[in-house]
Amino acid sequence: MEVTYSKEELNFAAEVRDFVSESLPGDVARKVLEHKRIFKEDVQRWHAALHEKGWIAPHWPKEHGGCAWNAVQRHIFDVESAALGAPRLSPFGLHMIGPVLIAFGTEDQKKYYLPRILSGEDWWCQGYSEPGSGSDLASLKTKAVRDGDSFVINGQKTWTTHAQWANMIFCLVRTEVSERKQNGISMVLCDMSTDGVEVRPIVTLDGEHEVNEVWFSDVKVPVQNLVGEEGRGWSIGKFLLSHERTGIAGVGVSKRELAYLKHLASEEMYEGKPLLEDPIFKDRIAELEIDLLALEMTVLRVASRDDSGGEPGPEASILKIKGTEIQQRLTELQMEVAGLAALPYLPMAWGDSFIGKTPGPAYAAPLAARYLNMRKTSIYGGTNEIQRNIIARRVLGL
Ligand SMILES: Cc1cc2nc3c(=O)[nH]c(=O)nc-3n(C[C@H](O)[C@H](O)[C@H](O)COP(=O)(O)OP(=O)(O)OC[C@H]3O[C@@H](n4cnc5c(N)ncnc54)[C@H](O)[C@@H]3O)c2cc1C
Repeated sequence: MEVTYSKEELNFAAEVRDFVSESLPGDVARKVLEHKRIFKEDVQRWHAALHEKGWIAPHWPKEHGGCAWNAVQRHIFDVESAALGAPRLSPFGLHMIGPVLIAFGTEDQKKYYLPRILSGEDWWCQGYSEPGSGSDLASLKTKAVRDGDSFVINGQKTWTTHAQWANMIFCLVRTEVSERKQNGISMVLCDMSTDGVEVRPIVTLDGEHEVNEVWFSDVKVPVQNLVGEEGRGWSIGKFLLSHERTGIAGVGVSKRELAYLKHLASEEMYEGKPLLEDPIFKDRIAELEIDLLALEMTVLRVASRDDSGGEPGPEASILKIKGTEIQQRLTELQMEVAGLAALPYLPMAWGDSFIGKTPGPAYAAPLAARYLNMRKTSIYGGTNEIQRNIIARRVLGL
């Protein structure tokens, strides 16, 4: 099955390709396509180019500086830009707190924060999870106590992605202890440079510093940084999560990685033949491609519903599960193509005589780190087990 685009949509796809080819910095695209490490400046350069073009917020309404593109346009942009090596933009401003402020923020909050998200002046991070409060998020304990015109925050957040790069954090905090744990939670916005905020790095098993602990010790946040009503932050927090989960599907990147996998499998030999000619390996690629196509159709269906005024509902959980499973399978098959050459390259462990020598072709060197890194996808944004519970309850009515 193929998506059939209208003439206008095909013209739009060509316009996207032209713009990305001209404006995406070549060194950034190369890093993405070769699975190299991406830094904040890389993402910022791409963010700035999109902002200048007016394409930074495809899904936001025009009145707030967005493009108000429909589901098909957003999908075309995702697929075309990913294919050319565009890095993933930071989702915390554009896809999470931005839509929340548009829906629940005060006029002052919208006026101040939305333009800064669009321009990239503010880099946000997400302060939801705490030790012991991940899947059971409503049990969170970070406390915010009203003191005159401020809240005073004490507690700890964990797994905070790119907190070391962020200047702002949106947090779920407990402003009241209530019998029902979902009550008494509030959402507040906090400047990371406020006295008492401390970021401590967590290095993950791929050697990457992507996540952190964020500690709050008597951190004073002005009351005007409360989003929505005090004590009613749980529903706002869930609204934000459905936007996060829809964004995790990552169809554009998976299509690019599938094309890369096929390319590698057509070059690498197994028993004297390209691996792609091995019927078992070929079947596994075909199975993956079918699942990706089904995901693509589901993304378009769910996103079209958003266009007609709805919000992503529990179906976002389906996108999250399928999208992340596909991302993980892609990294597994890429590792298999490289075989022994994909074993983690750890020069420190090998001693001086091996430094500078990679054990196989250059493409194979980053595969293991990427494979390890992608294990996170079935955990973050709410684990896939929890998404299955949501589907069972809210889609299947079990
Ligand atoms: C790389 C990475 C980046 C992250 N970034 C952020 C971030 O920026 N901000 C943020 O706030 N959080 C972030 N998180 C945290 C993430 O949301 C949590 O890790 C996730 O919600 C799981 O919570 P937990 O780690 O406490 O695991 P737990 O909740 O302790 O779960 C442990 C295991 O038990 C299973 N389990 C738990 N309860 C149930 C149940 N009821 N039914 C079935 N199975 C269950 C889970 O599926 C999991 O396999 C990130 C996590 C990772 C790995």
